[in-house]
Amino acid sequence: MAYLLLLRIPRYDPALLRPALSRMLDRSGITWKGKTVLVKPNLLGPFPPDSGVVTHPLLVRVLREELRRRGSRVLVGDNPGVRGYGMVARTSRVTGVDEAAGEDLVNLNLRPRQVEVSSRHVERVSVCSEVFEVDHWISVPKLKTHLSTVITGAVKNSYGLLVGGEKARLHYLAPRAGDFGELLVDVYSLRPPDLVIMDAVVGMEGNGPSGGIKREVGYLLSSDSGGAMDLAACRIMGIEPDLVPTVSWARKKGLAPPGLGAVEVEGDLETVPGFRMPSTLARLDPGGIVQKTVYRVLSRPRLHVDREKCTACASCVRGCPAGAVTLRGYPRFDRDRCQACYCCCELCPEGAIRVGGLLEYLRRKNGGETP
Ligand code: SF4
Ligand code: SF4
Repeated sequence: MAYLLLLRIPRYDPALLRPALSRMLDRSGITWKGKTVLVKPNLLGPFPPDSGVVTHPLLVRVLREELRRRGSRVLVGDNPGVRGYGMVARTSRVTGVDEAAGEDLVNLNLRPRQVEVSSRHVERVSVCSEVFEVDHWISVPKLKTHLSTVITGAVKNSYGLLVGGEKARLHYLAPRAGDFGELLVDVYSLRPPDLVIMDAVVGMEGNGPSGGIKREVGYLLSSDSGGAMDLAACRIMGIEPDLVPTVSWARKKGLAPPGLGAVEVEGDLETVPGFRMPSTLARLDPGGIVQKTVYRVLSRPRLHVDREKCTACASCVRGCPAGAVTLRGYPRFDRDRCQACYCCCELCPEGAIRVGGLLEYLRRKNGGETP
């Protein structure tokens, strides 16, 4: 039976994080001494530590120190966003993870390995070699909503094991949210993490994973199952697990327990009141037939650029897997090409792209607010 350990951590304070992480490493039952361990935070892009977008660097730092204290050789790294090979250094610097990781920082983009994957959507994927070479790897996701996949979480954090532009290619191969969720589970299955530690001290609600609203949640969670962790994340955010494609597919494929009743839970798992959903949730709601039909017939994403915020950096142009964004002074979106993957929103370092039109209306109906 999978386990889930929840600890109350109200703020990012090493004096609180150290005993919590120590307990989580002990609870895993893993012998860390003499082992090589990869720590993979969620570094979506060059977002500051307190943005609520990325795994907090203090958590990474203390985890690394605790592993080293136990005699592990530690590697720390991630492949940011869906962009190419040059983003690792900048993202590590801006997120504060380069300082937190020190000499243990590794660029997971440099040694790709082609591996076969059991999937309806793709035969082979390009994955960082390190994850297959280490003795153990620890996934350290952030608790956030997501415009495309409803939540980010443990299963989705494995997507960062893909190298550089591979993530954009897979987005293109499976543009629909349900198919993409299945593909995320297929990637996760290549090598599930040995331990998951979720940063839910401060999370994100609304139109995450980068354009939402920070929300103090006050949890640090650990589990030996990414699927169990995502079920817990759903409970905290008050989201029905069946609405989350990764959770739904993970359960179908035997990579998540059927429910939290099948998980050994240590600690009080409570729902945060009024957690705001992403506006796009309406399209996945199987109960809202009228709402869903309205969405499909009348709405394709209307993406708006806040010109006050936009720096014309072209990240959205490079990150769009459908080639639907062009830069003519400011980004312009081709609605006929757009696949509604929301990579552009996810990758904009300024939070300048907003989902508008009917989606905003539906989000307000869902109890959310315009970010
Ligand atoms: S919208 Fe964002 S990602 Fe696109 S050019 Fe402007 S700042 Fe860059
Ligand atoms: S325009 Fe944005 S939402 Fe549409 S396909 Fe491109 S990245 Fe995805």
